[in-house]
Amino acid sequence: MSSTSWRDRDKIRVFNTVVDNVLFEEAKEILEEMLDEPRFHKIFTPNTEIVMTCRDDEKLACEVNSADLVVADGIGLVMGSKMRDCPLLERVTGFDLSVFLLELAAKKGAKVFFLGAEPGVAETAKARVEEKYGDIVAGVHHGYFKARHGGCEDSDEEAAVVDAINRSGAEILFVGLGFPKQEKFILNNQDALEHVRIAIGNGGVLDVLAGKAKRAPEIFIRCNLEWLYRLIKNPSRLSRQMVIPKFLWKIRRDKDSVSAISSTQGGSDAK
Ligand code: UDP
Repeated sequence: MSSTSWRDRDKIRVFNTVVDNVLFEEAKEILEEMLDEPRFHKIFTPNTEIVMTCRDDEKLACEVNSADLVVADGIGLVMGSKMRDCPLLERVTGFDLSVFLLELAAKKGAKVFFLGAEPGVAETAKARVEEKYGDIVAGVHHGYFKARHGGCEDSDEEAAVVDAINRSGAEILFVGLGFPKQEKFILNNQDALEHVRIAIGNGGVLDVLAGKAKRAPEIFIRCNLEWLYRLIKNPSRLSRQMVIPKFLWKIRRDKDSVSAISSTQGGSDAK
């Protein structure tokens, strides 16, 4: 894969959100190229809920679409795209990309910074990750600090976090603050982050790496039923999970809800 080809690949627009139509294996190659290229890259991982929020918020959609790589982290997105005959190839999760980034860091001698989750969680995640991958985590910080993504302009705390990331020298940054805080943190600070080559907004990944939250068993993931596992574990998510049938209903009713954007078309819609 050439160093420019990944910037101009096929995409699928779902309402206002433009997702890269990549397989997980292709996304891995893209990440490896990004780490080799000395500039800042941002990766966002919208799920069905996020796409529905962006449907009603053009500005947020533009922010998500501004990433260098946007993957479809929700089975609802894949199902919806197929209903409109513009199929997304597969679900590519932020969790799987994050684990691959840890492997990549270990392989290439790169350093990772963990930002997010409740106090103590990132430290535990670091200890567990380093047991498996060696000394790859250059720094950690919890996700509860005053910052522009929380409506606080001119926060010393945000500046201190950016400074800690810069001093760590990390080239890979995990930002797990939930949507849309993590996307806003990355966008607000992209020019100030000196060594970071890949920043990924990855939600609750640190909770899973720390053993605080569990990912669904493999069988649920393979059957595209991770949402069901989460619902069983946490029934209070029901109102959030209802977004999937609501999303599919809106896709069915709106023939312009999904379109393919071919890389050979210079960004214009294929359908
Ligand atoms: N979080 C954070 N700072 C905040 C809000 C949330 O660090 O101001 C963390 C939270 O502790 C958890 C993650 O963000 O680790 C939640 O991410 P996710 O996208 O999975 O949110 P959920 O789907 O659970 O709402």
